[in-house]
Amino acid sequence: IKGQYGKHFAVYDETLRNKLLREQEITDSMEWALSEEQFLVYLQPKYATEGEGRLAGAEALVRWNHPEWGFLSPAEFIPLFEKNGFITKLDQFVWERSCAILRQWIDQGYPRIPISVNVSRADIYQANLADVLVGFIEKYQLSPSLLHLEITESAYTENQEQIIDTLDHLRGLGFIIEMDDFGTGYSSLNMLNEMPLDILKLDMKFIQSETAKPAEEGILRFIMGLARWMELSVVAEGVETKEQWERLCELGCDYVQGYYFAKPMPAREFEKLLKSEEEA
Ligand code: C2E
Ligand code: CA
Ligand code: CA
Ligand code: CA
Repeated sequence: IKGQYGKHFAVYDETLRNKLLREQEITDSMEWALSEEQFLVYLQPKYATEGEGRLAGAEALVRWNHPEWGFLSPAEFIPLFEKNGFITKLDQFVWERSCAILRQWIDQGYPRIPISVNVSRADIYQANLADVLVGFIEKYQLSPSLLHLEITESAYTENQEQIIDTLDHLRGLGFIIEMDDFGTGYSSLNMLNEMPLDILKLDMKFIQSETAKPAEEGILRFIMGLARWMELSVVAEGVETKEQWERLCELGCDYVQGYYFAKPMPAREFEKLLKSEEEA
């Protein structure tokens, strides 16, 4: 038994060591990767449930195309960047790219749809957050309402006073605030009432669970009703099947996003969607 115990420990040690090595490699190459344009902004379409699934927006999702490692998943590097602070720099890059894309769409005469960018918890505590965002909006001459800010639900639980102030300010400037991953279990209904918000983004766990629990239908209906009451729009993400899509329409969800419609794609490819929307 003792021997086996030791073996297990060694295995654990090995994976931990590999993980730390990998993290070190990522940390060593992130600045260089940014300057070498290895980070790419992908866009995933959002559709309105009304108007036969009209293209209604996009979410900007970052990808790292490393010359040796290939495409890295955000799950591998975003948590690390949130720890070491690089997320602030990377997010600003994604915001600026998104603004540049919005400007290009307007110049091409495409239908005006917003892009939602992810705002990490660390970004909210940057004193110059609003200045940075306004700087991009002015540089690319955009209406701030075209830039939606997705902030994960768990970020709302700490320093609520400060978050409320920051979001109030941003909303006052015209940005649209989306609460991402809503329903993952951190927020209380009381907090929801106090947060300056425009859109609730339902976490995908709600609609993806194969074995629908009896209470789940009730919870979904309750959230939809609450959102309507509070005059918030609801976006469902992670929609993978026709059944899920139909159910969300029936529940009165406003927007949907997921592999059933399209995966995140390069901006060039997304442009084709806008073009066909224009022709429709
Ligand atoms: P998120 O903001 O909740 O983004 C949704 C994730 O679900 C994305 O994963 C998206 O590709 C994926 N997804 C979309 N449709 C479906 C579907 O139908 N089924 C399933 N299973 N997944 C779907 P991705 O792109 O790997 O990003 C993962 C997370 O990394 C994001 O979760 C977000 O928290 C973070 N992230 C991605 N890009 C950025 C960024 O530019 N800045 C920051 N701060 N975080 C980012
Ligand atoms: Ca998001
Ligand atoms: Ca989400
Ligand atoms: Ca998430």
